[in-house]
Amino acid sequence: MAETSYAAFYRRSVESPEAFWAEQAQAIDWQRTWDQVLDRSHPPFAAWFVGAQTNLCHNVVDRHLADRAQQSALVYVSTETGQERSLTYAELHREVQIMAASLQSLGVGKGDRVLIYMPMIPEAVFAMLACVRLGAIHSVVFGGFASVSLAARIDDAQPKVIVSADAGSRGGKVMPYKPLLDEALRLSQHPAQRVIVVDRGLADWAQQDGRDMAYAELRAAHAQAQVPCVWVESTHPSYILYTSGTTGKPKGVQRDTGGYAVALHLSMRAIFGGKPGETFFCTSDIGWVVGHSYIVYAPLLTGMTTILYEGTPIRPDAAVFWRIAEQYRANLMFSAPTAMRVLKRHDPALLKRHDLSALRAIFLAGEPLDEPTGRWVAESLGKPVIDNYWQTETGWPILATPRGFPEVPSRPGSPGVAMPGYKVCLRNETDGEPVAPGEKGVVAIDWPLPPGCLQTIWGDDARFVHTYWSTYPNRQVYSTFDWGRQDAEGYLYILGRTDDVINVAGHRLGTREIEESISAHPAVAEVAVVGVQDALKGQAAWAFVVLRPGQLDAASTQQASIAAHVDAQLGAVARPQRICLVTALPKTRSGKMLRRAIQAICEGRDPGDLTTLEDPLALQQIPDAIARS
Ligand code: AMP
Repeated sequence: MAETSYAAFYRRSVESPEAFWAEQAQAIDWQRTWDQVLDRSHPPFAAWFVGAQTNLCHNVVDRHLADRAQQSALVYVSTETGQERSLTYAELHREVQIMAASLQSLGVGKGDRVLIYMPMIPEAVFAMLACVRLGAIHSVVFGGFASVSLAARIDDAQPKVIVSADAGSRGGKVMPYKPLLDEALRLSQHPAQRVIVVDRGLADWAQQDGRDMAYAELRAAHAQAQVPCVWVESTHPSYILYTSGTTGKPKGVQRDTGGYAVALHLSMRAIFGGKPGETFFCTSDIGWVVGHSYIVYAPLLTGMTTILYEGTPIRPDAAVFWRIAEQYRANLMFSAPTAMRVLKRHDPALLKRHDLSALRAIFLAGEPLDEPTGRWVAESLGKPVIDNYWQTETGWPILATPRGFPEVPSRPGSPGVAMPGYKVCLRNETDGEPVAPGEKGVVAIDWPLPPGCLQTIWGDDARFVHTYWSTYPNRQVYSTFDWGRQDAEGYLYILGRTDDVINVAGHRLGTREIEESISAHPAVAEVAVVGVQDALKGQAAWAFVVLRPGQLDAASTQQASIAAHVDAQLGAVARPQRICLVTALPKTRSGKMLRRAIQAICEGRDPGDLTTLEDPLALQQIPDAIARS
């Protein structure tokens, strides 16, 4: 970072992106250098480091062997099983090669997809790194998703191999994975996979001959395997990560290889202020983008030690994060506002019990950070709290206050300013014109997106263009689907989504996905799902259900049955907090569901202009339905 001021650094990133990113790319090992830094020939697509070859696994593991073979790379802490384990870079290298050889023995090669449906165990990280070592494309599915969600992702990604486990554990309760996977494969249109099962000894599992294999057997067979990294084009996909949108069908966010490595390396230095040899503790899950980027790739690209934690924030007590941070001398932490709101309900003395002298800052992202929670964490810990705003699509922060440039202070209520390469502009919803400072607008980013952001939607370029780049005809502008406001100094404030996507405890859920699942319940005639403000989780899903004729007698049984149905299909993560029974749903005369009006009533706000409402009674019965639920 040649510049001394963030303003100069940022300006160069957007005014001379080719020169800026070529310079940042020096931090990464390339097998072959690029012919072109940025291919601008097919907007809104942007291809970074075209013609170059590299390997992500080489950059996160192998290249550190010369200097840090004996440094701890991965620390594993499970308060669920009581296991703690530390692997050096040399040991990680060995384990990744064993997993890579295992995948290879099942036919996995460059470009093949491998679906990873696993709890927070080191083998999940080995599997991710083994895939990118081979040039295979991983798709990690969050362990909280159930069989229908999983089947949809299997059908879209069409993996050659699935890596899973017998079970996870949450709050001391064993959560079997294998039966959900078996059911997903039964539902799938693409059932020809091989399945590797990491048997943790937590739950019995049925082995299907010819399809399922225990990882222990593969591991023993390949214990000494040497598997070289496969050099791939910079633009070769490294992974697919599914995220919710406004339709029922999740979108497979596709990430490249070289651009991602360059962007994440820059982010760790400039935004997080992390240095080689330091320790990073991110409490997210590998099933989410934060886990991909800041449990696995960015810390390891930087030669740091990363902590992988299986457990909740409050077990055995609400000091567990800080106990781990103390024990492993964490220098930087990354968590979510909901986790902090959970801790806020416990004794504040717990935040003072441990020696956090190594800790420099805590980063929070994934959902809005309310000011009282941000202030509470900062005061209780006596450490800076850095809000940062981004999306699965971008892979790394769009807005933050960069720790590498201390002259940009954080401001309560704002995630910060635009990060390098992001030409953030607040635009008028109707014509796309930039709004004046202080006015509300859609948070948009001018083309091209910087390296590390999504290349496309897996298998669906048209959906990529249509979803993200078509809000304003004749403008190459990416929509985040968030509302925002910007002050005169460039700080942005995020004001909620412009679409029907909701955010429950930092987990992004499409209301349509939940509606589709509930609609499939035999007693349900019609349903609307809305996101309602929640003091703990930010938002909660509430479902308004019209039952089929003759089903009303057993109303409470139906509510429980609908909740169980969503659990089984999508997973408990998507279960509505309330299921309210109504006899009609508010719609316009043209049949459009008035979700915004329902949401307003749920939050005690004025539902606004209702002149187009077909049946006023439909809205009037909502407060009663809420009271009864
Ligand atoms: P996801 O792709 O699941 O990470 O969800 C991204 C969405 O979460 C964004 O579009 C925002 O709506 C929300 N979000 C993420 N980080 C923040 C933040 N720091 N402040 C406000 N909203 C956020």
